[in-house]
Amino acid sequence: MSKDQKIAIIGGGITGASIAYHLASTKSLNISVLDADVARGATRVAAGMLAPVAEAVYGEERLLDTMLGAARYWGELAEKLRDDFGLDVGLRNTGSLLIGATPNDTVEINRAKSFYDRLGLACTYLSKSELDSIEPTLSPMISGGIFTEIDNQVDNRKAHIALIEASKRLGVDFVTHDATQINRIGDSFEISLEDETCIKADKIVLAFGVTKDAIKGVPDFIYDSLRPVRGEVIRIRTNKFTPAPERIVRYLVEGRSGYIVPRLDGEIVIGATQEEKGFDASTKVRSTYELLRDALRVIPALGEMEIAEINVGFRPATNDNFPILGQVEQDLFCALGSFRHGILLSSIIGRGIAEMISGPTTSIELGLFTPNRLR
Ligand SMILES: Cc1cc2nc3c(=O)[nH]c(=O)nc-3n(C[C@H](O)[C@H](O)[C@H](O)COP(=O)(O)OP(=O)(O)OC[C@H]3O[C@@H](n4cnc5c(N)ncnc54)[C@H](O)[C@@H]3O)c2cc1C
Repeated sequence: MSKDQKIAIIGGGITGASIAYHLASTKSLNISVLDADVARGATRVAAGMLAPVAEAVYGEERLLDTMLGAARYWGELAEKLRDDFGLDVGLRNTGSLLIGATPNDTVEINRAKSFYDRLGLACTYLSKSELDSIEPTLSPMISGGIFTEIDNQVDNRKAHIALIEASKRLGVDFVTHDATQINRIGDSFEISLEDETCIKADKIVLAFGVTKDAIKGVPDFIYDSLRPVRGEVIRIRTNKFTPAPERIVRYLVEGRSGYIVPRLDGEIVIGATQEEKGFDASTKVRSTYELLRDALRVIPALGEMEIAEINVGFRPATNDNFPILGQVEQDLFCALGSFRHGILLSSIIGRGIAEMISGPTTSIELGLFTPNRLR
């Protein structure tokens, strides 16, 4: 493929940014990312967990190998962004605890461990004294749990910015307008932008997450397959007087699941609701209260910290909850529907879609997630 080939990526969240970075670092191409506001999507709201174990659920096993591959590849990607560009993605490899607040919750956690064992995902039981020694901030009421070193985190905001910055340094053009329409004209495309200008492209990648406003010319089945799954998270900040947790703590409190994700820079993300309520972006008193109440049952010291932000985002989910990755039509590709795993998967999706576009071979098997299954 020659430098004259123009690729337009519609959407500059972490998925679009990762595709841009991987395309620009492997081939000398003319790449544009179109997005009025790259900080508007789910990427900025997410907690940044790379969690193939805790996110493994019955019926979604076919995503597991891709999730494990994506988690491993984040290590390599983080190193490359640091060594080549001096950029930090906030990768923190301190593993994750999964704990139950009540005896019934602990039974559920133990049941989950049997499922993880069946999938061959390494995790170990911890007694109360082992838990206390590795995570002394936990409430004394927590009687045991499991630990996995597979599930870790990046700082999703830093990782997103790093991928954009690296892409820019490799020559990718970021155009701050949304796409409103795509038209196929002969062998190429014309993309109309919201400011009523047009740009031409030989290939298009759709990476717009999930939105209320459809882009004309995108096949209907793509929009028919997507739905927003609302999520609310709270960001708090540690202070020098209060001990902060060292690792991700995922929990059940009377059957309600939640997580606490501590960053190296003192930010802690508490999440998350998961609601099928369309595009309601308001923050709700009840969900904020419930998130904080459950988190404080698990780590009481969080109560002394300062609330920094309350965020709402929309996970881009599909009808079968699996991502849509690959060629939709000749020269039209999509990378949509990463649902609860979009930060994790963005590493491998970026590489896989870039290889698919620049060819001739791909090192990552994305065939399971072909758009054709949803037609
Ligand atoms: C509360 C919450 C917690 C989460 N926690 C995690 C987690 O811990 N780990 C994990 O792996 N995942 C997590 N996720 C999921 C993850 O955030 C998403 O899957 C991921 O961010 C999707 O990235 P994206 O780039 O595909 O979409 P987005 O981040 O939504 O980006 C889409 C971009 O497309 C742009 N766009 C939209 N329409 C147009 C248009 N017409 N033209 C041009 N651009 C357009 C938008 O401006 C936006 O910048 C979480 C999500 C939520 C809501």
